[in-house]
Amino acid sequence: MVTSKMEMLADDNASETLKPLVFRLHENAPAIIREVLLERGWTEFDQKEQDDTDWNLYWRNSPFPMTDHHSIKPWQRLNHYPEAVRITRKDYLARHLKRMKGAYGSTLYEFSPVAFIMPNDYVKFIAEYSKEIQSVGRPSYWICKPVHLSRGRGILIFQDIKDLVYHCTVIVQKYISNPLLISGYKLDLRLYVCVTSFCPLTIYTYEEGLVRFATEKFDLSSLDNVYAHLTNTSINKYGASYKTFKEGIGCGCKWTFSKFRSYLRIFGVDDMLLWQKMNNIVILTLLAVTPLPEASNCFELFGFDILIDDKFKPWLLEVNYNPALCLDCSIDDTVKRKLLHDIVELLNYKQVDAHRQNEMPGSKAVRRQVPWRRTGQSTPEQAPGLLSGRKVSTCISAPQTQPALQFARGSIHKVSSPTRKTARAHPRETLTSQLREKMNKPKTSSQVKTEAKNKQLPAAHSPFISAQLSRWSPSPEICNYKLSTRPYFLSDKDQMPTRQVGGFVLIFPFNEAALQASKDGTDVKSIIKEINKLVSKQNSTGQKKTKSV
Ligand code: ADP
Repeated sequence: MVTSKMEMLADDNASETLKPLVFRLHENAPAIIREVLLERGWTEFDQKEQDDTDWNLYWRNSPFPMTDHHSIKPWQRLNHYPEAVRITRKDYLARHLKRMKGAYGSTLYEFSPVAFIMPNDYVKFIAEYSKEIQSVGRPSYWICKPVHLSRGRGILIFQDIKDLVYHCTVIVQKYISNPLLISGYKLDLRLYVCVTSFCPLTIYTYEEGLVRFATEKFDLSSLDNVYAHLTNTSINKYGASYKTFKEGIGCGCKWTFSKFRSYLRIFGVDDMLLWQKMNNIVILTLLAVTPLPEASNCFELFGFDILIDDKFKPWLLEVNYNPALCLDCSIDDTVKRKLLHDIVELLNYKQVDAHRQNEMPGSKAVRRQVPWRRTGQSTPEQAPGLLSGRKVSTCISAPQTQPALQFARGSIHKVSSPTRKTARAHPRETLTSQLREKMNKPKTSSQVKTEAKNKQLPAAHSPFISAQLSRWSPSPEICNYKLSTRPYFLSDKDQMPTRQVGGFVLIFPFNEAALQASKDGTDVKSIIKEINKLVSKQNSTGQKKTKSV
């Protein structure tokens, strides 16, 4: 009985002190983030008006200074994990995957095309190149990519080594010359992956995603044609065929995963097996960079670029640090807007998080400095450097940036305004929607009375707030040794994290053994053992299905 009375009082107090959640955006953060958070009833942080810690989510396109990680508060989340760049730079990724291949065998780690980092691996590359000529009689195709550029800038594809020219660190990677084609067009997949913690490793993949098409037909006799060989939207939106209707594809250069999966099913392809293989790639890739320095209350949204070959084998091309969140077309709007809504759901804000600064209802803000545990590049927006006839992999892109940047910004406005209506079809029963609703309700006389009473209450008298705070604020003894902010994503009993949040599906830990192996530090060896079991199970189910078709 006592408890239920207290709970009622807690509810009352909560409704009295409803505050919106607050987001903070660093310069160049994508406009859609602001739109989505405003749609959800959040307010934007005002540096002049608000205290430095008076926000719940800080989003930026570049890594946070470590001081931001050190001073993180329980009600806050940062959108980058320290050192996540370890897998998002092409050369780092290649190095990590090579090491894992050496340690755990090429059967599992054979999903990334062979790569050489130049100039360091020049001799090794020549050896491989010559070996191929001797065994097959001709060289295969290679793709050369500057390690610190993105969006297809500075890429060249070659067969004859005479054509390989580079002026900066590049990776030279085996070119997948037998890609899956739809009506003759090459495509790749942009898979969204959200890591809510590296320690313990917790990975979600997003069920919906983007299929990105080249806008001219694939043709190995014209390696210079970026519109036929590269699937980056940042390139293809400037192609002559971008807006025209392309047979089998339609206008533009994108599909959703849903459409792609339906397409595969029509042709009897086991899209589930493909999905499982892609998830395995994600887990194995992220395992390659663990352990990362421990950090609490941050998350990472990665964009995995995956190419499928004509045998339906998925290949990992690269992992993106800040997957593009600009809206180039209505498909972008549909996928990315919902993605962001679901990310906010995944961040698991609780009602108490809206209080920030441990502020009590009706009392002055009480600041507590909690000694949370100390813990352990994205390039700015630029336009593509399209391949010219000259085969030079160049890192210089500055002169091209301006006009394209303006186009990109213009397109955000153009697309976002007509689609806003669809976006508003999203309001859900979330903390913020409830807050919004409650804030707009006129106060009842009993609420007014309670409010007046609350104003006189010392902070610790609110059972709701004190219960919540005691969960977040460590007692003095705990503060004496290294304490991690309790990860925000775990269930109260520290069991398996929530399996599905909106379109996000938990892919790691995938069973109890994987959960145990990732609890106190990541036991990669045991996890790999579990993955091997999982893969053989998936393969045998796949084979059974094929037989029965
Ligand atoms: P960027 O960061 O510049 O986008 P990516 O590695 O994603 O670099 O490559 C850009 C595009 O080039 C990909 O979207 C894909 O279409 C094509 N591509 C990249 N690597 C390969 C490869 N090994 N085989 C076939 N196509 C590739």
